[in-house]
Amino acid sequence: MAVYETIGQRAWESIAKADRVLVVTHIAPDGDAIGSLLALGQMLRQLGKTDVTLSCDDGVPDKLAFLPGATAVVTSVSDSFDLVIVVDCSDEGRGGRVFRAAVGGRPLVINIDHHITNTGFGDVNIVQPDTAATTEILFLLAAAWGVTLDKDTAQCLLTGLVTDTLCFRTANATAGVMSIATDLMQAGADLSYITSRTVNRRSYDAICYWGTLLQSIDLDDGVVSVCASANDHPVNGDASVVSLLITAKEADMAVSFVETENGQVEVSLRAKPGFDVAQIAYKLRGGGHSAAAGCTVDGSLDEVVDQVLAMMKKARRGQSRA
Ligand code: AMP
Ligand code: MN
Ligand code: MN
Repeated sequence: MAVYETIGQRAWESIAKADRVLVVTHIAPDGDAIGSLLALGQMLRQLGKTDVTLSCDDGVPDKLAFLPGATAVVTSVSDSFDLVIVVDCSDEGRGGRVFRAAVGGRPLVINIDHHITNTGFGDVNIVQPDTAATTEILFLLAAAWGVTLDKDTAQCLLTGLVTDTLCFRTANATAGVMSIATDLMQAGADLSYITSRTVNRRSYDAICYWGTLLQSIDLDDGVVSVCASANDHPVNGDASVVSLLITAKEADMAVSFVETENGQVEVSLRAKPGFDVAQIAYKLRGGGHSAAAGCTVDGSLDEVVDQVLAMMKKARRGQSRA
């Protein structure tokens, strides 16, 4: 796409000058975060960058450890860098301790992301909210930079597309996205293996935890919700019951509330096409996309549930199904 020729050239001007490059992705990383991190690392090496560090505060979760190159990801950095490239990260806070430490040395920052709520915190911002995943942006940049994708890079890029679109089930799984997925499969990416390791895989404990959460299910005013207190022992990793809730045909929006041990509540939001939960998350200092967003809110479970449900119902009244 022509627009990526221009965007890619501008980004390359900054990358070409840099010797020491750090690539960072967001805390609590998902498939798009780790897929983008590993794919961009490989692309930079193919472009002749020999000093590239890949990092994420929380490391690579077990369910993404199958991705080629995953063992190279570090969880802290002590060196200084000329250039920091942040991928799939809507704001500086989501870059975690690694990003905070790295910007202390005043590197140039390139921000590559697809969240509508991205704050534009980079010196160079490549923010494309019309893309389904950050790996879609990287695929288009690879073409603009003349990088030939090897099998491992294709596997990482396709993983981002698969996990952020729930295996091509979201409204942003366009013909363009399917065409990129086909190109990645032709380059050697294994769609069936990726789905078997990501969207089609979770722990037994995570499924049992869905059972705990579903005991609290409620549907009111087009919003379906569940909540769990810290005593319900939240299961880390894929406990994303909210993507199940939004399939309720009666619901326009869905939300899960999970209280943490330190007096906060993790809020995951989903919306049907035509409805927008990104702006709700953004007002609560989180972020995301119109159809999927999240935030962590200070307060007791009851307070946060009341506050967020009121915001969702108010927003829903001004919106309608697409
Ligand atoms: P989740 O509900 O965790 O699957 O997240 C849905 C979307 O919201 C993803 O694009 C996340 O990157 C984004 N998101 C989740 N939590 C936060 C947060 N605390 N701050 C900013 N974005 C978030
Ligand atoms: Mn992500
Ligand atoms: Mn993403």
